Amino acid sequence: MSEPLVIIGNGMAAARLADELSSRALGRFAIAVIGEEPRLAYNRVLLSSVLAGEVVSSDIELKSQSWWRDRGITLRYGCRATAIDTNARTVALADGQSLPFSRLVLATGSQPIRPAIPGMALPGVITFRDINDIWTIWHRAGAGDRVVVIGGGLLGLEAAYGLAKAGARVTVLHLMDRLMERQLDPQAAKMLRRAVEAKGIEVVLNADTAEISGTSRVEGVLLKDGRSIEADAVVVAIGIRPSAELARDAGIAVKRGIVVDDALETSAFGIHAIGECAEHRGLVYGLVEPAYEQARVLADCLTGREARYGGSVLATNLKVSGVNVFSAGNFLGGAGTEEILLSDPGLGVYKKLVIADGRLTGAVLFGDATDGLWYFDLIRRGAEIETIRDELAFGRALAERTTECAPKMAA
Ligand SMILES: Cc1cc2nc3c(=O)[nH]c(=O)nc-3n(C[C@H](O)[C@H](O)[C@H](O)COP(=O)(O)OP(=O)(O)OC[C@H]3O[C@@H](n4cnc5c(N)ncnc54)[C@H](O)[C@@H]3O)c2cc1C
Repeated sequence: MSEPLVIIGNGMAAARLADELSSRALGRFAIAVIGEEPRLAYNRVLLSSVLAGEVVSSDIELKSQSWWRDRGITLRYGCRATAIDTNARTVALADGQSLPFSRLVLATGSQPIRPAIPGMALPGVITFRDINDIWTIWHRAGAGDRVVVIGGGLLGLEAAYGLAKAGARVTVLHLMDRLMERQLDPQAAKMLRRAVEAKGIEVVLNADTAEISGTSRVEGVLLKDGRSIEADAVVVAIGIRPSAELARDAGIAVKRGIVVDDALETSAFGIHAIGECAEHRGLVYGLVEPAYEQARVLADCLTGREARYGGSVLATNLKVSGVNVFSAGNFLGGAGTEEILLSDPGLGVYKKLVIADGRLTGAVLFGDATDGLWYFDLIRRGAEIETIRDELAFGRALAERTTECAPKMAA
């Protein structure tokens, strides 16, 4: 008889795990997926493209209804899991039902951080995490409206771009002294600022928000240094927090996220966590590739294969049309590292490669990011680059053409 396996969350990690499990051992588990969002799992990464009007929401579904049905997976979407009983081994649902499990996987993702400042509850203050948020953004911030985006990271910039494309007058407020400081070095960040401003988006750095002003709706944003910016809507994109309450309430160990070991198992036997809700070796990842790697390892573990998750190398790509930005690994460098720099401000091209012990350990690309995945593969594999070092900065084509013994990229 199939073992009952319940996945809480119908996001990207859950869909990938269901896929990995059914391709390895179809029928071994009776899988039920519980999802709070009232729709099929979709590619959240592409929400920015939906906001920018480049694709429509139906284009970003990860799997069709029939895909789930054909694999015998029970889908319960539009339904929140409210409690886990680790002794009785059941999950309680918001509709009063209870599901038994032998294995449970938490794939509950994250929630946007909402700063504790006055005005956050005003109508017109919006976050950017799911399809509902996009509808709210469209409803509140149309052509000609003044929109303030709080947060100059990847999400904030993608939101700003989508809004500007729709005709809104957008100002990005960023607390730090450069945009995307977690992914870019100062030079690339400076070039990014110029490119963002060229899209008609105003950028204000060192901007610490004191409050969102307004009486019955948003009217503006007040900064701690006294500056104020008028706004009809405010999009808050300052970061995410793992959705870990269910686990915490069930007595499962939670620090920043739900703590998992290298087998992606939590402190409770047979209960696992993957994706943005999970904390592994002190790290919580906010990107999809680690979630996919975790899904793959967990599927192996659950189907009796020898597998361990050792952590992920991160890579980021900004999805703003015409602004090519890529960053991966340890891009800041530091003691014991060397840097190769290639910069042409006239062409708007910048490349920084960080090398340690004869291996590429980090890369920042601005302007031309075509070789991003090649660099990322070299970083991830820890490939020795001495034989291609002369050509490394000029990209894959040259490096592989001129050096017979160049490391070959995995297909
Ligand atoms: C606009 C945007 C752009 C992004 N761009 C990129 C990018 O370019 N590159 C990149 O790598 N990553 C990007 N990300 C991040 C990426 O989408 C996430 O890393 C990925 O979705 C994580 O997958 P997950 O399954 O852990 O979480 P999610 O996809 O968020 O899925 C979690 C699901 O669990 C549900 N859930 C939570 N609690 C419960 C409960 N109690 N009961 C039932 N269901 C529950 C949630 O409603 C949600 O549907 C972006 C995210 C956003 C919002």
